[in-house]
Amino acid sequence: MDRSLLREAVEERYCRLVEAGEVLFRQGEHGDAAYVIDAGAIEIYAEGDDGRQTIARLTENELFGEMALLGDSRRSASAMALEPSRLLVITPEHLRERLEAADPLTRHLLRTLVLRSRELLQRSRPGPSPTGTADLIAAELAANDRRLAFGRVRIEQAMEQALRRREFQLYFQPVLRLPSGPIAGYEALIRWIKPDGSRVPPAEFIPVAESSDLIWPIGRWVLETAVDGLLRLARSGVGAESAAPLFMNVNLSARQLHDPQLLPLLAAQAARLRGQRCRLKLEVTESLMIGNVALMQAFIIQCRELGVPVVLDDFGTGYCSLSYLHLFEVQAMKLDRSFVRGISVSQASEKVVRGIVGMAHELGLEVVVEGVETADQAQQASGLGIDFAQGYYFARPAPLDELLPAQAP
Ligand code: C2E
Ligand code: MG
Ligand code: MG
Repeated sequence: MDRSLLREAVEERYCRLVEAGEVLFRQGEHGDAAYVIDAGAIEIYAEGDDGRQTIARLTENELFGEMALLGDSRRSASAMALEPSRLLVITPEHLRERLEAADPLTRHLLRTLVLRSRELLQRSRPGPSPTGTADLIAAELAANDRRLAFGRVRIEQAMEQALRRREFQLYFQPVLRLPSGPIAGYEALIRWIKPDGSRVPPAEFIPVAESSDLIWPIGRWVLETAVDGLLRLARSGVGAESAAPLFMNVNLSARQLHDPQLLPLLAAQAARLRGQRCRLKLEVTESLMIGNVALMQAFIIQCRELGVPVVLDDFGTGYCSLSYLHLFEVQAMKLDRSFVRGISVSQASEKVVRGIVGMAHELGLEVVVEGVETADQAQQASGLGIDFAQGYYFARPAPLDELLPAQAP
C-alpha cells in the first residue's frame, strides 16, 4: 500500500475506528467504499447454508472491500473487526480524484482496467447493473483523455521509427561575437522532417523523448552528428578569423544524465576534437540544474576534465535565481529571448539585464543572448556588454550543407 495514499487518507479524515467484534459490512449489503487497515485486524467471512466460513484474516496495510470501487455495489462477503482497529476509507471519489491527477496515459489505462473488471464482474454475477458514484470512475472514457494518452504513445512509436528511418536532421544556428561577428560557434538544433516534408517541432517531440529512454539514442545521435558538423565547418575555414576555437553547443536534457553511455560518448567526441581548433559545449537548462544539484555538479566537473564546458541555457525562464549560480561551474550563460524583447520596451528590463551581465562577468562567465531578431536588438545587446548573440536577425538554423562555404568538400 502506498504510504502517501495512507497519509493523504488520514489527512483527509477518511478514517474509521471500529471496536473488536464490530461488523463493518455484511454480505449482500450495498458497498460504497474500500478500506485499508492502518492498525488492527479484520476478518473477512462468508455466510452460507453451511454456516460461517472465514475467507481471510487481514492485518496492517491490507486492502479489502475494493469491489465497491469497481462499481459492484453488493458486498460478496462480510467484514468484522477482530480487535480495535483503525481503518482508512477509500471512496470512489477518492479514486476518481487520483485518476484525474494522473498523467493521461495512466489515467486512460486505469479507467479501461476498471471498466473491463466491472464488465467481467457483471458477467459473472448477473443482476441489476451497479450504479452510483463508482460509475463515474469507470463510465467516461473521455475522448480528450484518449487523444492525449494515445497521442503520446503514437509520437513515441513514430520517433523510434524516425530514428531508424533517419528522419531526424541536425540544423545549426550560428552564434556571433558582438557587435557584428565573426561567427564564434553554432548551436545544434534537432529537426524531425517526415518523408512527406511535414515537420514536428522539437518542443513537441523532445518532451516525449525525455519522458522515456528514447532521448538516449536520440541524444547520442545528436552529439555525434554535431561533432561531425563541427569538424567539417572548422576544416572548411569557418571561424578561422576568430581568436577563440569554433564551438558547437549541444542541448542536453535531464534524462540523458542517466544514460550510462553518455560520458564514454562525450570522451570519444572530445578525443575527436583534440588538436583541432574547435570545441564541444553542452547546453543545460536552469531547471535541470536545480532539480539535480549534486548530480549536475559532479557531471560538470567530469565534463570539464574532458574539455567540454557546460553552458546555462534559457537563463531567466525558470527560477532566475542568481544565488545558485556559484554552485555550478558553468562557462557561459544564455539569456532567454524574453530578455531581448524586454530590453527593447522597458528601461527597467535594461537595468536588470545590465546587472545580470555584470554579475556573470564577475563570475567569469561569458554571456550569450538568444532570439535576436532585429538590428536594434543586436545593437542594444552589444551596448549592454553581452558577448555573443544568436537569432533570426543573423541567421536561422540551417542544415550543414547550407552553412559550408561553396568550395568545401
Ligand atoms: P533552445 O535550446 O533554447 O534553442 C533555441 C530555440 O530558439 C530554437 O528553437 C531556435 O530555433 C529558436 N530561435 C533561434 N533564434 C530565434 C529568434 O530569433 N527568434 C525566435 N522566436 N526563436 C529563435 P527550436 O529549434 O524549435 O528548439 C526548441 C527547443 O528544443 C530548444 O530550445 C531545446 O530546448 C530543444 N532542443 C532542440 N534541439 C535539441 C536537441 O538536439 N536535444 C535536446 N535535448 N533538446 C533540443
Ligand atoms: Mg539551447
Ligand atoms: Mg535556449
